[in-house]
Amino acid sequence: MHEGTAFINYCKMWKLLIPLALFGVAVAKVDYTGYRVLRAYPTPEQLNTIETLKEKYDLDIWLDYGKASGYMDFMVRPVFRSLVEETLDHFRIPYEIFIEDVEEASRAQLQSNTKATDFYGNYHTLEEINNWMDEFASTHQSTVSKVTIGMSFEGRNINGLKIGTGPDVFFIHCGIHAREWITTATCLYTANRLLETDSDQLTSLTYYIVPSANPDGYAYTWSDDRMWRKTRNPAGTACVGVDPNRNFAYAWSQEGASSNPCTQTYYGPEAFSESETQALRDYIGQLGSTVKAYIDIHAYSQMWMYPYGYSNVECADSGDLGAITTNVLAAIRGVHRKRYTGGPIATTIYPASGTTVDYFYETGKIKCSFTAELRDTGAYGFLLPEDQIIPTGEETYAGLQVMAEAILDGTCA
Ligand code: ZN
Repeated sequence: MHEGTAFINYCKMWKLLIPLALFGVAVAKVDYTGYRVLRAYPTPEQLNTIETLKEKYDLDIWLDYGKASGYMDFMVRPVFRSLVEETLDHFRIPYEIFIEDVEEASRAQLQSNTKATDFYGNYHTLEEINNWMDEFASTHQSTVSKVTIGMSFEGRNINGLKIGTGPDVFFIHCGIHAREWITTATCLYTANRLLETDSDQLTSLTYYIVPSANPDGYAYTWSDDRMWRKTRNPAGTACVGVDPNRNFAYAWSQEGASSNPCTQTYYGPEAFSESETQALRDYIGQLGSTVKAYIDIHAYSQMWMYPYGYSNVECADSGDLGAITTNVLAAIRGVHRKRYTGGPIATTIYPASGTTVDYFYETGKIKCSFTAELRDTGAYGFLLPEDQIIPTGEETYAGLQVMAEAILDGTCA
């Protein structure tokens, strides 16, 4: 065989191999063996060093640096582990290893509750959640219906439950950040708990509960990458996904949000570039002034917060919202003695602009606009074991009921 034929054969071989290789990449589940999560305690002056590390070693920020906390959490790839740890040592930035092996923690997350037969004590796939919503609505036909608030980038329905017949609306959504599984599980718990213990309330209030506000991302955390946070829109760039909680139009593209498509806090090519953020804007917008309270539920850090995220400026309702928060924290503590902290977003966790809460408070005119960060404080982070789902649901529910009371007593009007 002369050279020419060999070359043609070589080309033919690659034509066959390239699609296979691409296919292989598309279906392979990311293996997090050897990935570590560190908590670092930089001084404000050392934040530049962390910034450099972040870019150079492609750190996945689990929890951004907060002035109040004085720390930040990030996941490090095995190939960069010693380089990152040596650099931290070199610059005398204290750190602790919070999760030794993310793959192992991820497996353990689904194994801590193998004996539980309770549906609400386990994490579920998007398909299971959608089936559950159908079943739940048909079991409670007089008070519950399934609603579709919009469609995701990949064409999935963004589903929710409308629970109750009352004139005032409490809108709750979970899972806008896909990897925060405990939030989605807590939304399911909340829906069921309302019917079980507070059905009297449902003639005065109507709850909307959206367990997965980012269904493409959530499905992807089960099929491909447990640590996926953003939407699945390539947005015309090399890196996929926009942070939906930086994509809202109020104070869009300001502090605490990134113009870099490859970061976890990418604010998108423009405000409301995402189908998922448009869906929330339009659906809640169409409910209008009936919406008296709103909450966007996240994890982790154990916090209950109100506007603003984009700056330290005090919001006009900080008196009432602060008082509600104080009661929420006490109610949560009363359930399992867990300490949550509370206050405005920018000073309690960190500045973040283009967020859901600032938008629905300012533009949506929903006075009682909140966001929460559920368990834990970092020991498991996004990989909270299943045996903590019900306790987290119970304490969160107590917090949500404080908000419901604030609607009923007119504080949120
Ligand atoms: Zn989040």
